[in-house]
Amino acid sequence: MYYGFDMGGTKIELGVFDTDLQCIWQKRVPTPREHYQELLAVLHDLTVEADNFCGSAGKVGIGIPGLPNEDGTLFTANVPAAMGQPLPGDLSRLIGREVRVDNDANCFALSEAWDPEFRRYPVVLGIILGTGVGGGLIVDGKVLAGRNHIAGEFGHFRLPVDALEVLGRDIPRVACGCGHAGCIENYLSGRGFEWMYAHFYQQQLSAQQIIAHYHAGEPQAVAHVDRYLEVLAICLGNLLTLIDPHLVVFGGGLSNFSEIYQALPQRLPNYLLSVAKLPRIEQARYGDAGGVRGAALLNLRDDNSASPI
Ligand SMILES: [Zn+2]
Repeated sequence: MYYGFDMGGTKIELGVFDTDLQCIWQKRVPTPREHYQELLAVLHDLTVEADNFCGSAGKVGIGIPGLPNEDGTLFTANVPAAMGQPLPGDLSRLIGREVRVDNDANCFALSEAWDPEFRRYPVVLGIILGTGVGGGLIVDGKVLAGRNHIAGEFGHFRLPVDALEVLGRDIPRVACGCGHAGCIENYLSGRGFEWMYAHFYQQQLSAQQIIAHYHAGEPQAVAHVDRYLEVLAICLGNLLTLIDPHLVVFGGGLSNFSEIYQALPQRLPNYLLSVAKLPRIEQARYGDAGGVRGAALLNLRDDNSASPI
């Protein structure tokens, strides 16, 4: 059995998966935000409960909103109780088995890459267009984490010069949560989508309202969506030239906007080498369940019988 924990800022969700990757048991509890020992106790108790359900000790993977550090501690701004703590080692001692931890966006990408239909693709790029912009890169069924475990943090790419042609050379470099300004997250996330509308039209609408206006043919919303899709194509074009994936999967709230899947194949060739064939571009298939599924899959990567190719 494979246990996948999705540890968020407000809740911890556990999904238990069998060897066919079917979810057979799930539980959700509030995240202890302040006290580390309390957090460890919750993870321990959930593991024991799952062991009792399964009648055996499953392998444990945890997706976190942050990064595992080189020294075994975690960087988790949204879960203060785990920030700077050696959680994988401590939990491993408590439950008597290895604990694998990865970034939740990597877990999202891993979950999609192991979809029965998508498993045939060697290089899968997962992109989340949500409150922020994040993602992960999966190569041969495994997370490509990189030197600092930040591979796939696409949201903090710099806004490319082509985008200035679309948005205007005087487009403000919006301050980013990472401490810099002008990261593409601030233009391509759901929040960025709303910010750009407010910037051009001095009107604060939600992404849903803007999209409703777009579908109604309202000219400002149509022009706004046109600009957004062009900037998305520019930024994705850069990623495709760097990574050349076989499959791109979009998750997050804005991934529900179906225009993305029509527009990108039309617009991307303008920003790619002429020899480049487009990757397959799809919407995520696992939605909110991708977090626990991907975390469970952190242990599957060593299982030879489940080779992705
Ligand atoms: Zn940033």
